[in-house]
Amino acid sequence: MKNEKLLYLETFGCQMNVSDSEKIISMLKEVGYQQTETPSAADLIILNTCCIRAKAEQKLYSYLGRLKGLKKQNKRLIIAVGGCIAQQEGRRLLGRFPYLDMVFGTHTLFSVPEMVRAAEQGERMANVDFLDNEARLDLFPKGEDNGSVSRFVTIMQGCDNFCSYCVVPYVRGREVSRRSGEIIDEVRQLAEKGVVEVTLIGQNVNSYGLKTPGELDFPALLHEVAAVEGIKRVRFTTSHPKDISDSLIACFAELPKLCGHIHLPAQSGSDAVLARMERGYSREHYLKSIANLKRARPDILITGDMIAGFPGESEEDFQQTLSMMEEVEYADLFSFVFSVRSETKAAGFPDDLPYQAKLERLDRLQGLQRQMTLKRNRSFAGTFQEILIEGKSRRGEQFYGRTGGNRMVHCPADPFLVGSLVTVRITKAEQNYLQALLP
Ligand code: SF4
Repeated sequence: MKNEKLLYLETFGCQMNVSDSEKIISMLKEVGYQQTETPSAADLIILNTCCIRAKAEQKLYSYLGRLKGLKKQNKRLIIAVGGCIAQQEGRRLLGRFPYLDMVFGTHTLFSVPEMVRAAEQGERMANVDFLDNEARLDLFPKGEDNGSVSRFVTIMQGCDNFCSYCVVPYVRGREVSRRSGEIIDEVRQLAEKGVVEVTLIGQNVNSYGLKTPGELDFPALLHEVAAVEGIKRVRFTTSHPKDISDSLIACFAELPKLCGHIHLPAQSGSDAVLARMERGYSREHYLKSIANLKRARPDILITGDMIAGFPGESEEDFQQTLSMMEEVEYADLFSFVFSVRSETKAAGFPDDLPYQAKLERLDRLQGLQRQMTLKRNRSFAGTFQEILIEGKSRRGEQFYGRTGGNRMVHCPADPFLVGSLVTVRITKAEQNYLQALLP
């Protein structure tokens, strides 16, 4: 008889969701669930969702449709939906999918083990309550101890910015910064377990601590984290360009452990579009920040996000985006066609650009970025780069690691090197990775 319960968890969307999924896995391990990679073998299937783009929602619904057959075969299977779509749709999901057992929101992650216990007894339920900030502060969770040498540490949740197109403030709630003492304690504990790289994550890490009297600000937190013994590398994401301060930029010059990479989503290169997006900065401000970052750390790699076809975007606006991409020299870019979210202000903006024309702009934007990424990757060929060996790669006997600038590198290595910073020689550059040899 099977005595262990199996969990299959699918994560959609951003790093915040990846981090939340780690927490769910960790909590469910404590009540007897082990992970499986096979949905049909699972006793519990959790879909941790994202609703930034309408496409993600459609993806969830078709996924849920496919799970109906599994539920028919195994009546005891528990199916759960969590994350942003769950927060937005709540109980409606239970009505729409009668074989769905539970729905939990972005603030009720902690009730998952209890809800699973109730679902095991045949209950169907939704819990998408928003908690107040005090309660959230006490519930900031730690990630799963997954044996990785590189880990996410959540430092804040939510967002107060209300960009005109974004649902995050509605589904993740208002911004709350975790207590710095707890963050440092978690980083220390991770270092004691052999973790050597931490990525501090939040919706907008630049504004960490600013609304909490007496709390450290983000640059001060970075200094504290970098000072933890055993930690060799520190990264962070995501930054908001309007909140990037001189003291944060200075950290790139002052802290050798801070990796030379920043993800700084511009969303558009046109001032007119940025104003309609209510992003709170201009093209000039963005480019000035980039120039200052490059001065502080000349080899820094910049990545970002761009939206093509925002309501009212003219061809000239779009050209501004392309020219900004070339000026910044992005190493990589996440780019999307504007996706209408009905709850947001931008849903009411006049938009006469046909969808096909938006797609065509996205195509041009992505074509340009592909060329720039390859060119940047090729610039590393023949150079020596320091990488952190993170684990065994899926490419045969190779191992993988990342440079400080966050370029993926594959190279043959010995297993005992996992967790070590090693200098490798880049032998080949591909679109998505670099190939290397130990010298
Ligand atoms: S900063 Fe803007 S785009 Fe980013 S999560 Fe907040 S509202 Fe959304």
